[in-house]
Amino acid sequence: MKLISPYGGALVDRTISADELDRRVHDEMPSAVILKHDDIIHLRNIAVGCYSPLTGFMNEDVYQSVINDNTCAPGLNWTIPVLLHVESSTFQRTKPGQMLLLQSDQGDSIAILKVETTFSIDRDAYCKGVYGTTSTEHPGVQDLLGKPLTCLGGALSVAVERLETHRYLTSPTVTREWVENCGAETCVAFSTRNICHLGHEYLHNTALESADALSINAITGAQVKGSFLPNIIFDTYEYLLTNHYPEGRVNLNNMRLPPIYGGPKEAFLQALMMQNFGFTDFIVGRDHAGIGNFYGKYASQQIFETLTSLGIRIRAISEPRFCMVCDKITTERGCRHTGTEVRTLNGRDVRRFLLEKRYGELDNILRPELSSLLTRMLEENLVPSSLELKMRERRKLLYD
Ligand SMILES: [Zn+2]
Repeated sequence: MKLISPYGGALVDRTISADELDRRVHDEMPSAVILKHDDIIHLRNIAVGCYSPLTGFMNEDVYQSVINDNTCAPGLNWTIPVLLHVESSTFQRTKPGQMLLLQSDQGDSIAILKVETTFSIDRDAYCKGVYGTTSTEHPGVQDLLGKPLTCLGGALSVAVERLETHRYLTSPTVTREWVENCGAETCVAFSTRNICHLGHEYLHNTALESADALSINAITGAQVKGSFLPNIIFDTYEYLLTNHYPEGRVNLNNMRLPPIYGGPKEAFLQALMMQNFGFTDFIVGRDHAGIGNFYGKYASQQIFETLTSLGIRIRAISEPRFCMVCDKITTERGCRHTGTEVRTLNGRDVRRFLLEKRYGELDNILRPELSSLLTRMLEENLVPSSLELKMRERRKLLYD
């Protein structure tokens, strides 16, 4: 059985041992830069091959071709810049050719950057190129306002063993082994930033009917206020894998990404990561990775008609919803009902119903065992008169 090729042909490996890193730091004496939370997510994705064929933070020419032409190399599409933004003091003292030590905010030495280019970016060009807007209503635009516009590009060598570990976090090498070991010719990838609701289960079932295997990729790393904590998200999927889904055919994977809100462009990035993980198909919903009304209704599916360099197959799906007339989960292709007859399923409603203790309304959104799992977590510490305790109980489920 032949696995799907990594994007660009080969899986990138930019990992080195911690000993090797320390030895090179001693020999070459690079000066240090402290990385931020989002930088470290990108750094790890580059090092273990999730972002193949990238071997480091983007250089100026690659960055320009990403925002202007959606490519990172001839014939290879790429849509989201992967940049190392640095403060101007660091920028001023750094020259191409220099080795730079990269550290975590705990002061651990985690990587070496061989600086190839130092450059400044234009904020509006970035925002138009990536988000299609310069409106500060867009969270991605707002995010860039908080970042320096000076960047360093170059190849990385990363001591991955020094990076923080996370539940279900592996690497493309490990997921590819899993696909191979379960003998799957077709493995459908599903991605989510949410706990498992009935619409997700519907998609999983459909995938398992038509493919050999399914990989559920919970996207973590955003830490957005009010969103579910990764542990809660993994608990809901783990419950299904342990008790209900077919044994040996379903894999749970932690896909780390900072918040991007890139809509179609982010959908493309996710698809190429899925290909690197070794999955053959990727489920893309209508407003996949969208935010507000910034993107066209079908934009996240249509982008794959224009950017065609991926090997992974895109499964453009119509979103499952709960139909009150049919009294079950359907899609717009599966039944004729519309408008007030159907209810959309989303994590935002689940959070609201939980926090407002409207538990009955969870019935059409969550499997009963999962809604009781979540409500139990909330109720165990419940003292209705104590605001302090209410806050603490919330922290168990959500980022604050
Ligand atoms: Zn219906």
